[in-house]
Amino acid sequence: MSERPANFNAGPATLPEEVLEEAAAAMLDYGGTGISIAELGHRTDAFETIIGEAGADLRSLLDLPPEYMVLFLPGGARGQFAAVPINLARKTDIADYAVTGSWSKQAAAQGRRYVHRVKHAVTPVSTDTDIYVPPASEWKLSDNAAYVHITPNETIDGVAFDDLPDTDAPIVSDESSRLLSQPLDITRLGIAYASAQKNVGPAGLAIVIVHEDLAQKPRKITPDVWNYNTQAKQDSMVNTPPVVSIYIAGLVLKWLIKQGGVEAIAEVNKSKATMLYNAIDESTLYVNSVRARNRSRMNVPFNFTRPELEAAFYEQAAHERLVNLEGHRSVGGARASLYNAMPMLGVTRLVEFMKAFEAAHS
Ligand SMILES: *Cc1c(COP(=O)(O)O)cnc(C)c1O
Repeated sequence: MSERPANFNAGPATLPEEVLEEAAAAMLDYGGTGISIAELGHRTDAFETIIGEAGADLRSLLDLPPEYMVLFLPGGARGQFAAVPINLARKTDIADYAVTGSWSKQAAAQGRRYVHRVKHAVTPVSTDTDIYVPPASEWKLSDNAAYVHITPNETIDGVAFDDLPDTDAPIVSDESSRLLSQPLDITRLGIAYASAQKNVGPAGLAIVIVHEDLAQKPRKITPDVWNYNTQAKQDSMVNTPPVVSIYIAGLVLKWLIKQGGVEAIAEVNKSKATMLYNAIDESTLYVNSVRARNRSRMNVPFNFTRPELEAAFYEQAAHERLVNLEGHRSVGGARASLYNAMPMLGVTRLVEFMKAFEAAHS
């Protein structure tokens, strides 16, 4: 491993080193043009190639059928919290939300501004020692929801689920911290959107995969930059797109293809997560109370049975170049994010450090 620290931040998150090296060179001279990637015009052939290849690579990585459109939109996933209702629902509609953690709670609150009623179809069961999401077959869905919104990987809470409700309403999935970490069956979904900053690239960019039928009914108030139909017709260039972010996301997609694609990286991700959860479960200092079925492979939060050791843990971890292990400010505790670009060696080093730290304090 290089001199770079292992960065466990939840987002903006670690990126592959070879991607950063290529982007660094392009910052001064993109492809021998003498022009920086930050200076490249979006109406150039060069950028059309960049955005075209990024879209095509995403399609091939996720095996997307032609009736799904790929959009690169401004405003991250939070922008989509508003874009979804104003593209899919009328003011008089009901929208169902699976409120399974911190991010879906915010998505539901934002959605509430634009529809008549938001129904919380499910909430997690949570005690000090047991956290889980009831199976989708038990969710309480409305008969006539405009859509059902899910967040299958809750980045802050480390809660994940794979099952989908049986419904005729389109399912909209906030895939921010899961996209490209495991295979995705898009045909079960109407929309999958993701903030790029977790698994794909720099912050500020949203990747939106939307079924063409759903893009047809925006409201009058829908801003052009978040109007799926308008953006699709103009190749995501209604606004000047974030050229540098799309360029770097494109490099990450090519890197992922080189790693063997989504199936291959999913196996690595499984191994990384298993290694860390085993270390937590075998220890008496670290605890994670999420049921096995609902444990996130991307974001692994853990608490300390002796909270007085927590500050020393972060300090000594940083000394070992294991950084950004502090959990989200809203929930406390520690959290290690294990996105695609976190190498196995980073997780091995973390587990070794955790064991040594516990031994030294027992
Ligand atoms: C990070 C995250 C968001 C917000 O992303 P922004 O880039 O800040 O808009 C929304 N949902 C989930 C699940 C996330 O992980």
